[in-house]
This record gives sequence, structure tokens and C-alpha cells, in this order.
Amino acid sequence: MAASALPFGIPDLVIKAIPEDERLWVPQAPNVWFRPLFLNTVAGEWINLLRVRRAGVLSRHRHPAPVHGYVIKGSWRYLEHDWTAVEGTYVFEPPGEIHTLTVDNADEMITLFHVCGALIYFDENHKAVGYDDVHRKIEMCQKHYEEVGLGADYVKNFIR
Ligand code: FE
Repeated sequence: MAASALPFGIPDLVIKAIPEDERLWVPQAPNVWFRPLFLNTVAGEWINLLRVRRAGVLSRHRHPAPVHGYVIKGSWRYLEHDWTAVEGTYVFEPPGEIHTLTVDNADEMITLFHVCGALIYFDENHKAVGYDDVHRKIEMCQKHYEEVGLGADYVKNFIR
């Protein structure tokens, strides 16, 4: 019996990661977008592509759970570390640290991030000022997909 025929099986999710339809990129900040791939409401995690077309500090944040990244294009770094994640780099971010995501080159950067749990955003004084989790990501997708004519429910394609 094929796996897809399991009576309570969850459907596969097989999609073109870098989409032909520009509308699938959800704006996150000026010249910063995310493209949802897998929004996991059971484990509380999400996998997305982050696309940046500007240089400078993007966010100062902390993860309470692990993050995995794979750089598809361009490069980025954390001000707190002496390494730079370049095209082809895999990064494991252990939970706990507050770090400052920075892009040095305004050319396009695209990285696949698997974020477990949440991102908690901090200001320069280490004060928490916001957060992202899979449910916030879903809300952002709903709003954007509604605005661009795909319909709020389009996000359901990426939710399991
Ligand atoms: Fe991080």
C-alpha cells in the first residue's frame, strides 16, 4: 500500500522552493521577505527562505530552540561572531544567545532557515521588543496572500 493511502497520513509537501510567482514572498521589512516552505503547527517550528536585498543590521534576536540554516545565495553574519555564512554554508545555531544578523552586501541574499520554537527580538539594551513563531508567520502569510489576490487560505498549502 502506498504511504499516501494511509488513512490518517499527513499529505506530502513538495514545492518549488524559489517560486516563479513573486507573490509567494511575504514582506517582513523593507527589502526583506520570507517564503514559507513548511509551517509546522504541531511541533511549533517553521522552515522558510529568507530573502534580503539590502545591507545592514536586520535584527537582534535570541532563539529558545535550535535553528538550522543553509545559504543558497549571498552571505550574512552575526556581529557577535568572527565567521561569515557564505553561499553553500550550513549553520547550526544553538539556543540561548542574543545575536545580531547583518548583511554586508546589498546584492540578493537567500538562506533557508529551519527555526524551531521562536525568534525573540531585542533592542540594543537587551530588552525584548517582539517575537516570531509559526503562528505569527501564518498570520503574516494570510494577510499578504489576501492582499495579493491569492486568498488568505493559500497559506494552508504550507501548513501541516
Ligand atoms: Fe539567529
